Amino acid sequence: MSRAESLGVRRLVEIADGPQEWAQALSLSRARPRFVRAALGLHPYHADQFSEELFSALSKKTLLPEVAAIGEIGLDYAKSSIAADIQRPVFERLLSLSKSLKKPCVIHCREAYQDMIPIIEKIYPHPPESGFWGVVHCFSGGSPEAAFLKEKGFALGVDGPVTYPKNNALREALRLAGLECLVLETDSPYLPPQSSRGKRNEPSAIPEIAAKVADLFCVSISHVAEMTTRNAVTLFSLTDQGVVK
Ligand SMILES: [Zn+2]
Repeated sequence: MSRAESLGVRRLVEIADGPQEWAQALSLSRARPRFVRAALGLHPYHADQFSEELFSALSKKTLLPEVAAIGEIGLDYAKSSIAADIQRPVFERLLSLSKSLKKPCVIHCREAYQDMIPIIEKIYPHPPESGFWGVVHCFSGGSPEAAFLKEKGFALGVDGPVTYPKNNALREALRLAGLECLVLETDSPYLPPQSSRGKRNEPSAIPEIAAKVADLFCVSISHVAEMTTRNAVTLFSLTDQGVVK
């Protein structure tokens, strides 16, 4: 966190992927309330842990001021050992919870865009009046998926893979979507940018991702920082209002 802060990172959203991590994310936020907010969810890797008790515990904890979002939730057909027909209804319930509690969602989607899109269409038939319903973190779809999500009112998360030499299709999809719907993230400890591939990723990698996005849009890094920070503040309501002192 200190290294990230020394490089200009001003806000972190700490993701807790299942009930076993919720308390730790909340305590990080309580230790540094202006710097860290928590996102609590149930990752598709753990979709088989879903129960009505978990749903009600998540509903209650999501109302805490430390909690900026519900996530990660989603679909993973690449690595999750849990069957798609178990993942889908869990994702739908948690996405509906995000909508009913008016807390943005952080969606994880790997090789499952074909099933994610109809679920989003069902829960969110219309874009929000302003801002975003949530973010598809570490966006890995193509241009049609990016266009759909932007139109529906979702932000796209840009991570280390944007710096990988072979990822021209991803860069093109992001370029067509436009800076106005992008947020920067690292997905630490996974997916380090090109200069540190094979190593443990951490939030201080954000400037390298910002530099690549600046190249992509032919704008300055400070413009990218300003736009993506504004998007993240809007998405997660990262103001000091309501912060537990
Ligand atoms: Zn993820």
